[in-house]
Amino acid sequence: MPTMGALHEGHIALIKKCVRENELTVCSIFVNPTQFNDSEDLAKYPKPIEEDIKMLTQAGCSVLFLPSIEEMYPKNEAPTKYNLGFLETILEGEYRNGHFQGVAQIIDKLLQVIKPHNLYLGQKDYQQCLVIKELIHQKKSDLKLHLVPTLREEDGLAMSSRNRRLTEAQRAISSLIYQCLISIQSKQTLQHFPIVQKECFDILSKKGLTTDYIEIADADTLEILKDYTPDRKMVALIAAKIGDTRLIDNVLL
Ligand code: AMP
Repeated sequence: MPTMGALHEGHIALIKKCVRENELTVCSIFVNPTQFNDSEDLAKYPKPIEEDIKMLTQAGCSVLFLPSIEEMYPKNEAPTKYNLGFLETILEGEYRNGHFQGVAQIIDKLLQVIKPHNLYLGQKDYQQCLVIKELIHQKKSDLKLHLVPTLREEDGLAMSSRNRRLTEAQRAISSLIYQCLISIQSKQTLQHFPIVQKECFDILSKKGLTTDYIEIADADTLEILKDYTPDRKMVALIAAKIGDTRLIDNVLL
């Protein structure tokens, strides 16, 4: 199970599922520099390693892989370029240039080192799951992917290492992102999506959030849909900034 540390109950739910279903669970903690397009975001990423180790031990994790940057990215190694196609041009790919190349690089490396039979990923990072699925497909690997539902705080905010950065006032409004996703979900038989989309933009901007995107997409391909398309499996996705903390979330429709 690959992570960037600053573990929370969402991560631990994945670890526990992995522990239940496998003989040996390996968790990696590596704040991967190549997937950050904002150096400040990278510098501010929390690294409470002692707490993380305690949580992993309690959850029954067998091995922690905690490599250094030099180990994962040797100095003279040219970066591999991945063909992720359409998937890296939209949503997170559009707003975080090069992000998914970085994700593909590190996941490819981790898989080569650890050689797992099963890989556990959180649905919270929906597009990342599809990118990794595509990577595994291209590698013709028989690794099995397990997508685990998003764990949320009581008010619906998706658990995230970045939530630690929110002030009390920011934390109080952060669940609006989930509320918007639920309204997109509940209005699918009542209204056209562009109307709901605009309502959500307005709700978020009134509270001072800066929205990167509010979209619905085909849940398998991530093709962006202009309106609700009941004969397709759909996912609604939002990315918004509260102060300088950028949060993402999604729900299946
Ligand atoms: P990260 O440390 O943010 O790279 O996340 C490591 C793994 O944990 C990824 O597969 C995430 O999708 C997953 N994850 C993060 N937050 C949650 C959550 N709230 N619920 C379930 N899985 C999560």
